[in-house]
Amino acid sequence: MLSVETYPTLGEAAGAVGQGAQYLAGGTLVMRDVNYGDQSFSRIIRSGQVDRDIRADAGGLRIGAGTTMAGILASRDAEFLHPVARQVGGPAVRNMATVGGNLFAQHPYGDFATALLALDAQIHWADGRTEPIEGFFAGRDNARGLVSHITCARPNAGDFRWLKISRVKPKGVSVMSIAAWLPGGARPSNVRIAFGAMGPTPLRAKAAEAALNGQSLDEAGIAQALTVCTQDLAPQDDPLASAWYRQEVAPVHLKRLLLGGRS
Ligand SMILES: Cc1cc2nc3c(=O)[nH]c(=O)nc-3n(C[C@H](O)[C@H](O)[C@H](O)COP(=O)(O)OP(=O)(O)OC[C@H]3O[C@@H](n4cnc5c(N)ncnc54)[C@H](O)[C@@H]3O)c2cc1C
Repeated sequence: MLSVETYPTLGEAAGAVGQGAQYLAGGTLVMRDVNYGDQSFSRIIRSGQVDRDIRADAGGLRIGAGTTMAGILASRDAEFLHPVARQVGGPAVRNMATVGGNLFAQHPYGDFATALLALDAQIHWADGRTEPIEGFFAGRDNARGLVSHITCARPNAGDFRWLKISRVKPKGVSVMSIAAWLPGGARPSNVRIAFGAMGPTPLRAKAAEAALNGQSLDEAGIAQALTVCTQDLAPQDDPLASAWYRQEVAPVHLKRLLLGGRS
């Protein structure tokens, strides 16, 4: 037996989530689970108040958790994220799939969340808590409340790069995805590189980041980063690719991303 509970505000809905409940955002994953007869939850929580506000200011970009991928694509402020949103599923999925839901999507999903990790995002919960995205992933649990919005960096033009590798074009799921934030022009510093579908959650390639800081983005400058880029990753086998394959090809794709020019 499945019950559906609708609350007027996000705060009230957040108070109702917990074990045995699923919040219904876009529903692309929750409704699939319902249709498959998933018995792990018996309550669906909905909110009459959905945050779809996208706003840029001097501090960066604010994205309401209820923003869909189509909403990202319609936003000028979020233009640097268009290549990411465009590669989440097909048009029907993008019309429903939310940024908040993507944070909770299990392997191999979570393309948008991978980009947010590279962009040093902060997760803002409906009850006022804020936590860095890495802490969020470390304790990811959809019984912890509801995310109201996300804030992240808004890189200078060309400093953000994105690459998704999939077997089925144009809308296959990720064999892996890579997001890189390379501030500082020809010799970037404070580099952040995140891999999706290379672990249970999106993960940073911290050894590669350290090896890239201050280096020029050419064959010689990136060589050490390619050597160490899988050190912090934990790929797993799935029907798309084995962990071994993912490990072997990660440096190849990172090289393409880093030498491929600024998007
Ligand atoms: C055919 C198909 C193709 C897909 N392709 C891709 C793809 O290419 N890339 C990709 O990354 N994903 C893909 N997905 C997965 C999914 O569509 C996306 O990850 C999407 O962003 C999930 O968002 P949603 O709003 O639909 O989540 P929902 O199904 O509504 O919810 C998913 C989970 O997130 C939790 N949740 C949602 N919002 C919040 C919130 N604000 N606070 C707390 N918890 C919340 C829910 O409780 C639930 O556990 C695909 C799915 C399908 C069915």
